[in-house]
Amino acid sequence: MSNTGLTIRVPEKEIPVCAEVDVMVAGGGPAGIGAALAAARNGASVLLIEQRGYLGGMATVSQVPAFCPYTDHIKPVIRGIGLEILNDMKSAMERTFQEEWQEKLDWVPIDAEVLKRLLDEKIAEAGVKVLYHTFVGNVLEQDGVIEAAIIHNKTGTQAVKASLFIDATSDADLTYLAGGQLKKGGNDGELQPGTMCFVLNNLDRQKFLSSTDIHGRDLKHAINKAKSEGRLKVARDWAGISWLNDHTAGFNFGHVFGIDGSNTDDLTRGAIEGRALVAHITEWLKETIPGFENAYLSLTGEQVGIRETRRIVGDYVITADDFLKCRSFPDDIARNAYFIDIHMANAASRMTMVHLPPGESHGIPYRSLLPIGIQNVIVAGRAISTDRATQGSTRVMPNCFAMGEAAGTAAAILAEQGSRETRGIDIAALQQRLVRHGAWLGEEINTLYGEMNASK
Ligand SMILES: Cc1cc2nc3c(=O)[nH]c(=O)nc-3n(C[C@H](O)[C@H](O)[C@H](O)COP(=O)(O)OP(=O)(O)OC[C@H]3O[C@@H](n4cnc5c(N)ncnc54)[C@H](O)[C@@H]3O)c2cc1C
Repeated sequence: MSNTGLTIRVPEKEIPVCAEVDVMVAGGGPAGIGAALAAARNGASVLLIEQRGYLGGMATVSQVPAFCPYTDHIKPVIRGIGLEILNDMKSAMERTFQEEWQEKLDWVPIDAEVLKRLLDEKIAEAGVKVLYHTFVGNVLEQDGVIEAAIIHNKTGTQAVKASLFIDATSDADLTYLAGGQLKKGGNDGELQPGTMCFVLNNLDRQKFLSSTDIHGRDLKHAINKAKSEGRLKVARDWAGISWLNDHTAGFNFGHVFGIDGSNTDDLTRGAIEGRALVAHITEWLKETIPGFENAYLSLTGEQVGIRETRRIVGDYVITADDFLKCRSFPDDIARNAYFIDIHMANAASRMTMVHLPPGESHGIPYRSLLPIGIQNVIVAGRAISTDRATQGSTRVMPNCFAMGEAAGTAAAILAEQGSRETRGIDIAALQQRLVRHGAWLGEEINTLYGEMNASK
């Protein structure tokens, strides 16, 4: 709620320490999953804290229906843990899904229920301790070092002590709470819109496909027509449809504007407006699109999907120029080939999309994961240090897995050495460990460390 202007003083009190670990990961989306798995597989004791009752982040919380491309159109750029999860999810799907998607790495549809179970299992196998239904609400910080995170849940208020903290909250909550430097949105405070994604059952895919020349595969023609007739109130003439089988599809369709996902009033409005928009869209789909006549709305996101909130100011800020020139950095820990994809901030503005040529990508330096002024926090995922344009590209799930894997691996290496100083890491050792575990950091680095690993 907005503040009333009044304040009250909360009395100091002792709270129990419920865990003391090498690495605490806040947030169980793609970045947090990559981080927790990598840290544990590299020998650290890990506690993963997630406010929902499952992992997956936007894919499961907000029903984002597909993974963005893992490739640069020629080869996979995202490998390691991200690729492992993609392939394992495919293997757990129905035979027909497997046949359709086996060889594909780009825009693979997500079955949120399959993903939730798979992630529960993977986290358990790796020995990560997970705490669901728990919110990280504060930190104890002194001189740029976080000593403990304060967590809230049904059990009460407790503290978690850790040597290193990974901020995978996507809103940079830990960095915010520790007083780090942050940016949000564009120069005028504009933010990408939210979307309430949803799942429809009882569809007839074959009938739909037989009329896509009229409506458009992404419904572009049908949407434009309906908008001009005043029958459909959406800003963009595009629907992302991800088919899970011949009767069920996930939809990324429609925008909710003016939602700051780091503000609970806005999230509440996003939930209410988002669900109303989905009801309106579903009615229109049933009336208009062949094959959708009997559509049954089975699910909307638990939370409106959020594309953009805070991003940290780190030791390095990745810029659009780095993106366009496909720059590599000596401390690269991942690579990004996804296009700049900035959704319009209001109904009157436009999408911004800038693609790299096939086969091209740019590096993501370790420094862009380190929030200025904070010693023992590594940020991974949507909130890393970039300019606004580049955030529109680095933010997608495959990249977040890769950044998380790098953050978790770095934290484990530091924990092994008894160090909390994220800036003191041996970059070559980090890159070599990542390559050994299957990451792709570009031809040069992979050749160097691939050969070194092979000769061991
Ligand atoms: C509508 C929409 C469509 C998109 N389409 C695609 C697409 O097609 N393909 C694609 O790959 N990407 C897509 N994206 C982008 C992508 O989903 C996100 O940018 C990505 O999931 C970010 O990953 P993350 O791990 O940084 O954070 P998130 O996925 O946001 O996960 C963060 C997790 O942290 C938890 N958390 C947050 N704060 C706290 C706290 N204080 N305490 C405890 N837990 C906390 C949250 O509950 C959540 O589970 C889309 C995004 C949106 C919103």
